[in-house]
Amino acid sequence: MSLFGPVPDAVDELICSSRGCRSDATWGLLWNNPKLHTPERRKVWLACDDHREHLSQYLGTRGFLQDVVPAAELEPATGS
Ligand SMILES: [Zn+2]
Repeated sequence: MSLFGPVPDAVDELICSSRGCRSDATWGLLWNNPKLHTPERRKVWLACDDHREHLSQYLGTRGFLQDVVPAAELEPATGS
């Protein structure tokens, strides 16, 4: 755990965020919309290997994409 820098939102199931896809997510796309989010906030989209590129491009062309990390590194939500 890092004491500094942005902290990604917790994630529930590791399922791809692409519409209609129910594949296991292997990647976490960390993004931030500066009009909506504070600078250290990281929203998380999950992606399977097939959709990582598509979702990265979608966020990247809007200037929102900050980082892509293995899904295993993301903080799981504890059912609270
Ligand atoms: Zn997918």
